[in-house]
Amino acid sequence: MFPESLGGLAVLAGLLGLCIGSFLNVVIHRLPKIMEQEWHAQCTELRGEVASTAEPLSLAKPRSHCPTCGHQITAIENIPLLSYLLILKGKCSACHAPISSRYPIVEALTGLLSAYVAWHFGPTLQAAGALVLVWALIALAAIDLDTQLLPDSITLPLLWLGLGINLWGTYSDLPSAVTGAMLGYLALWSVFWLFKLATGKEGMGYGDFKLLAALGAWLGWQMLPAIILLSSVVGAIVGITLIIATRHGRNVPIPFGPYLAAAGGIALFWGDAITHSYLGLIS
Ligand SMILES: [Zn+2]
Repeated sequence: MFPESLGGLAVLAGLLGLCIGSFLNVVIHRLPKIMEQEWHAQCTELRGEVASTAEPLSLAKPRSHCPTCGHQITAIENIPLLSYLLILKGKCSACHAPISSRYPIVEALTGLLSAYVAWHFGPTLQAAGALVLVWALIALAAIDLDTQLLPDSITLPLLWLGLGINLWGTYSDLPSAVTGAMLGYLALWSVFWLFKLATGKEGMGYGDFKLLAALGAWLGWQMLPAIILLSSVVGAIVGITLIIATRHGRNVPIPFGPYLAAAGGIALFWGDAITHSYLGLIS
């Protein structure tokens, strides 16, 4: 394939990524609230009380609005990245309350990574799958940072999709993918229980096990050691820095999901090279 057409593909994927990033912002903001609403509804039902008749929040409704004044975001204010930078300049057009820089950051990150996926994999099934994986990892990382939750409604479909896409050996052969899903879950589950038995504390959540299971399903069990190593090293560095910089108590939970997601992304792109180099070191 000619480099210029690969460049064109990357630009297209980047533009698609900007729009998806805009949607991911909605998912990141609303999914935890939707989950909370469902838990409340279930509790109300269990207590035998009458459920609220208010229309439940969903990803589509109500339309996006300013959290300070309720101003509804118009079409021109909803163009990924450009609206924030050129039209709104980081402020609500009605009340001028500042809008979090998280929104353009998520859009830009999704756009750049989507372009890189297209560039790296070319026009293949690998690229199509990698786009979905990267988008899911961005949403999971941000939701975990905000709420220390990794929603089942993302991790579980991601796991099945990983197994499904490897029916054709897209990233890994099917037996390695199934083994990866099992060992991924088991690895962190064991760490969790060892840590809990030793210290009486819970060091991570079940969502982390499911996320590593999903990464194992996508990339095969061979990638698990690299993912665990990368996420632990980065997690330890960031964690220690945070403890020193903010005098953040050691008991404040630090989410592990963002590091797992980042390590999963690194393994997706450069996992083969990493695994070969350390297997080379051992033998
Ligand atoms: Zn406003």
